Amino acid sequence: MDCCICSSIASVYRLPRNTICSSCHEGARNMAIFFNELDAFGSTKPVGLHSTPPKGLADVFKRIKSMREVEQGIQEKLGFLDSYAVAFRQGIHTDIIVKPGTGPAIPAHKAVLATRSEIFRTMLSSDECKAPAEDTIILPELNHEELKCLLEFLYSGSLASDDAGKHVYSLLTAADKYEIGFLREFCEQRLLESLGPENAFQVLEVSEVCSSSLLKKQAMDFIVKNVECLAFTTRYDAFAMKNPHLSVEILRALLLEMKGLS
Ligand SMILES: [Zn+2]
Repeated sequence: MDCCICSSIASVYRLPRNTICSSCHEGARNMAIFFNELDAFGSTKPVGLHSTPPKGLADVFKRIKSMREVEQGIQEKLGFLDSYAVAFRQGIHTDIIVKPGTGPAIPAHKAVLATRSEIFRTMLSSDECKAPAEDTIILPELNHEELKCLLEFLYSGSLASDDAGKHVYSLLTAADKYEIGFLREFCEQRLLESLGPENAFQVLEVSEVCSSSLLKKQAMDFIVKNVECLAFTTRYDAFAMKNPHLSVEILRALLLEMKGLS
């Protein structure tokens, strides 16, 4: 069947009796449903889009063009705001020294730290956490590289993929400790995307440290579903030694699963 949308001779088709393949039909339906749902939840609607639901594909196309314009505006705004990250990377007018537990200190800006975290704001206004006579704060649980990633995220709201992969556990712990919600969500998402046999126990462990019920449930479910290949690994031996209470929870979850009660 030659589809009047995606076939190589689609341009010669004319209304009204044409055929459409199942892929194009499904895509068109889903786009219309997507925009209708978007309109049904007024508060989730991107600014600048008109309010009536699409009536056909031509209308859907207009909506997509409109969304593209909104996205371009957001990209321009992000580019404008990126000057904060440039000021950090180039050390322009920094006014605070942030010391890691190990490695060299990193200059930053008080205003950025204070606006990203209530904890930092309190630290900056409390003499307790400052070294005397200098503007310095110390984050002893982070090494230099981890601190650099944390600061980079506070300025730019994102991280290079390699950095995120390498330091996601310590950054999640820092996000929890310093109450940086956006970083916490970023790290949780990253861990959920990478959840597998190699890191399931580590994810469960960090979920407990950071009180992340989302991560804990996903990691626990994964371990229970894959218990046959995970229970006889050295990773599990090390995990069970370090986290006996979580091992008990795994056993209970497994029993519930086997009885069909989970
Ligand atoms: Zn088609």
